[in-house]
Formats: sequence, C-alpha cells, structure tokens
Amino acid sequence: MVSGRPGSGGGLDVWFKNLMVAGEGGKMERAGPVMAGWKDLPMELLLRIVSLVDDKTVIVASGVCTGWRDALCLGLTSLSLSWCKNNMTSLVDSLAPKFTKLQVLTLRQNRPQLEDSAVEIVAKHCHDLRDLDLSGSLKLSDRSLYALSRGWPHLTRLNISGCSSFTDSGLAYLTSHCKNLNYLNLCGCVKAATDRALEAIACNCGQLQFLNLGWCEAVSDKGVTSLASGCPDLRALDLCGCVLITDESVIALANGCLHLRTLGLYYCQNITDRAMYSLAKNGRVRSKRGPQDQICGSATTRGGGFDEKEGLASLNIGQCTALTPPAVQAVCDSFPALHTCPERHSLIISGCLSLTSVHCACAVQAHRAGRSVLSNHAY
Ligand SMILES: [Zn+2]
Repeated sequence: MVSGRPGSGGGLDVWFKNLMVAGEGGKMERAGPVMAGWKDLPMELLLRIVSLVDDKTVIVASGVCTGWRDALCLGLTSLSLSWCKNNMTSLVDSLAPKFTKLQVLTLRQNRPQLEDSAVEIVAKHCHDLRDLDLSGSLKLSDRSLYALSRGWPHLTRLNISGCSSFTDSGLAYLTSHCKNLNYLNLCGCVKAATDRALEAIACNCGQLQFLNLGWCEAVSDKGVTSLASGCPDLRALDLCGCVLITDESVIALANGCLHLRTLGLYYCQNITDRAMYSLAKNGRVRSKRGPQDQICGSATTRGGGFDEKEGLASLNIGQCTALTPPAVQAVCDSFPALHTCPERHSLIISGCLSLTSVHCACAVQAHRAGRSVLSNHAY
C-alpha cells in the first residue's frame, strides 16, 4: 500500500518509488512505457492531477522539472493568485511569461498590492485570456486598462470592482477594443462608471449580459438610457446606490431590455410607482404574445403574467421608500418568479415599511388552503 504524501525533493522520489512498488504485480508496467520517475508521467495525467489540487501546488509542481514546467506552461488554462497576501506583483511577473495559455486569471485582493507593471506583463504574454478578475486592485491606474485593451481583444468577462482609480477615459478606451465583453463588474468604480463610459459600453459592447454598477454615484438616467438601447441582451443589472437615477432609467430598461432577469435598485430613492407600473406592464404585454409562447409544458403562470423562465426573477427595491403597495404588488403579480415568501425571497423590500402588505402567490395559496381546511372542519 502506498503510504505518506508526496513532499519536496527526496521525499517526492521516495513516494514515487513506493507507488511503483505498489504497482508491481499489477498491470502498470506492462500497460505502456516504463515510468522511471515523476518526469515520465504522461502530460494528460499530470494535467488531470493538477486540475484537482490548489493553485499554490500547481506553481510548486511547475518547478519540479523541465518536463513538468513545459507541460504545465502549455496545458494550464485557469489560475487564481488570490491566496497571495504579499508580493503578488512579483509572483505575476515571474509566472505570466510561463503560463502563456491562461484563459481564466483571478487576481482578487483584500489588501491592494497589484501594480500596473504586473497587468502589463500579463497582457504581453497571455493572449488567450477570456476571464480576468482584478477586483480590489486599488493601486491600478488607467495604464492597466490600456494594457488590457491592447493585449486581450477577446476578453469576455472582466471584474474590476473596487478599482476606484480607473477613470471613464480608460474604461471607454477598453470597451472600444474589447467588444466581446458579456460580463462586466464595475461595482464601486466611482470615477470610471460615468454616463460617458456607459455610452461607450452601449456603443461597443452590444453582447453585454451582466453589468454591476453598484454604488457608482455618477451614473444618471442619461447613461442607463443609453445602455437600455445599446445592450438589449442584458440579463442582470445592478444599480444599487446609483442615487441619481429616476423612473426614466427603469422605464427605458423595461422597454429596451426584454431579457432582464435580475434588477438591483437598492437605495435608488428617486424611484416611484411609475417605474413599477412600467415593469409590470412590460410583463403583462409579453404574456399576451401568441399561444406558442404560452405553451411551456410544466411552466406555471399566474395573475396574467408569463412563465417563470422569462421576465424578472430577482428585484431589489430595498430602501426605495417612495413606493406604494399597489404598484409593487402589480410587479409581483406580473412576474411569477418574484417571491416575498422566506423560501424563495426574490423580491427584496427591506427598509420599505409601507410595503409589508405586498405578497407573492405562495401567501395567497397558503391563505386559500387554510380556508379550505377550516371549511372542511365546519362540515
Ligand atoms: Zn413565494
């Protein structure tokens, strides 16, 4: 039986010899080329093994021998360095020239440390990158956005939440080069996410499906209206804390983004019933489409709305204190996937004390069931 775990240096060799001893008498040696050491491990098997271990171990493995280094350099497509608490810039500087086939790179930080030079090195070497997470990189400047633009025209997912030093010029430039973006997280990018930048996004990134603009206080109706017309495929939009936006933004989204499933309006205190009725009307209009749109197998409909696989499935109107119960109830009735019940809770009304009378269909059904039980007892 193989015992112990592979360590470094001599320990690794001892572990390998134990493994070979355990394999003797079995089919291991007769099945293919004889493995004299770890370096003879087939590349496919090595990549399968490293896909099961953590990213720190992958980096250690790449230094075991030239064979492993070459295999990992060619085969590794996803890497996270978020565990790195110090010297992330130096680590990226040393790894980027090796791991040139990376498609997914996570450089999220709790304590800002990454510098522009690291992003420039990655942009220079890793041209296959599709998905980049730079969240929390407060030290990065527009230099990084320019490097991104030049290095990764095929980027589809970018998370720069909390990168508060980026400006709207840098972001607009990025969108003019990375036109395939479908996921963009700009939460807290107070200087970058302006109306000007949103106009550039609307103009360049028509495939965008997910956009987080949380707490981007410079965003106004002008920017959101542009988005609604330029990005009709939006599925999720977070406008939490965008304090300037009014009903105009929500009306534009209700009319322009017919695939919207998630909408965050937390603390958008200018929002009134007009916005809610616009959303509700959009749901009802779609429910009146042809019969082929209504026949959805087991899909459930209620209140004149359409099935749960379409329309809003999550709406946060917490702290939108101007809203009244009839308007919010109309939205809830139009979209069957919106729930106020604790089990599904997808219509968030926290902080809106006047909305406690709004209920999803579950509450109505529970009430009916209760009445039915009572009437059965009566007879
Ligand atoms: Zn419910």
